[in-house]
Amino acid sequence: MSAPFSWIRPEPWGVQIVPADCWIDPGRAVDRALVTHGHADHARGGHGETIATPETLAIMALRYRTGIENGEGEMPSKATPVQYGETINLPGGVKATFVPAGHVLGSAQILLEHAGERVVITGDYKRRHDPSCAPFEVVPCDVFITEATFGLPVFVHPPIEQEMAKLLGVLAANRDQCVAVGAYALGKAQRVIAELRAAGHDQPIYLHGAMEKMCRLYEEHGVDLGELRLVAEAEKDDMRGHIVVATPAALNDRWSRRLPDPITAMASGWMRVRGRARQRGVELPLIISDHADWNELTSTILEVNPTETWITHGREEALLRWCELGQRKARALAMVGREEEGE
Ligand SMILES: [Zn+2]
Ligand SMILES: [Zn+2]
Repeated sequence: MSAPFSWIRPEPWGVQIVPADCWIDPGRAVDRALVTHGHADHARGGHGETIATPETLAIMALRYRTGIENGEGEMPSKATPVQYGETINLPGGVKATFVPAGHVLGSAQILLEHAGERVVITGDYKRRHDPSCAPFEVVPCDVFITEATFGLPVFVHPPIEQEMAKLLGVLAANRDQCVAVGAYALGKAQRVIAELRAAGHDQPIYLHGAMEKMCRLYEEHGVDLGELRLVAEAEKDDMRGHIVVATPAALNDRWSRRLPDPITAMASGWMRVRGRARQRGVELPLIISDHADWNELTSTILEVNPTETWITHGREEALLRWCELGQRKARALAMVGREEEGE
């Protein structure tokens, strides 16, 4: 009888499912990969086979041309779609089930079952309502491998309604300018747009060209984003009194000169840190995150109530300490290359 959970092996660049000889979110090309979601620090091209939700595979095909070619002369990747709730059999007697993670379109936690043991890998997740993706589901398990991007008690994200009211208030008070919202192209941009619609904002929203395809992909998967127009096709004056959504990089470069007196906003969990907003020249910081905040991280561990909690992805120390204070067995995994994209 081998040691408990020894069939799951965390390495700095991914988590290996030993008996199945496959990897979760590997940072380098492998024969067979299970991918939680489309952000670049989890999904990369070049795997022999990529197993993911249909939405994640579509995002990967758009971003990295997985399944078409990867530009490195490697063989095209085989794409195997798995629906939410569907269980697949991996080699070595391992079952894998994809469960919504509430992070971005198609994002999944992966439940692995082997030898009577259950391991859940959250990937990135959040518990807040998000009109642009399916909500997180609590899955009971023995080992819970959780992200900890915002794993400090200081990180408590405000309600999204409050941030939307702030944005719409600034827009209404400055009808002869535009508000340019910096948001990452996968996930954050579409969530901001969907939340604006939910808040009753039915005006056209202007887009940086780099977001167009991803917004269309969301719409093809049933997320209604309302009327979108491209900045490149608009007259400067038409954009006065409107919201523009652009990549953070575009707002800091000459591209932004085509906007009419923009008020610069940024949608990110890091906007909680005043210095970061100031550093980036953000006039209107919007604390909007697609990651669990401290309260979501800790309440999720209580709800899932695993035998062991393995912590990855960011600020592990505080969450590790919190687990220990609550007599919960926990360990920090040293994963490399997990970046802040999407935040
Ligand atoms: Zn992510
Ligand atoms: Zn991540």
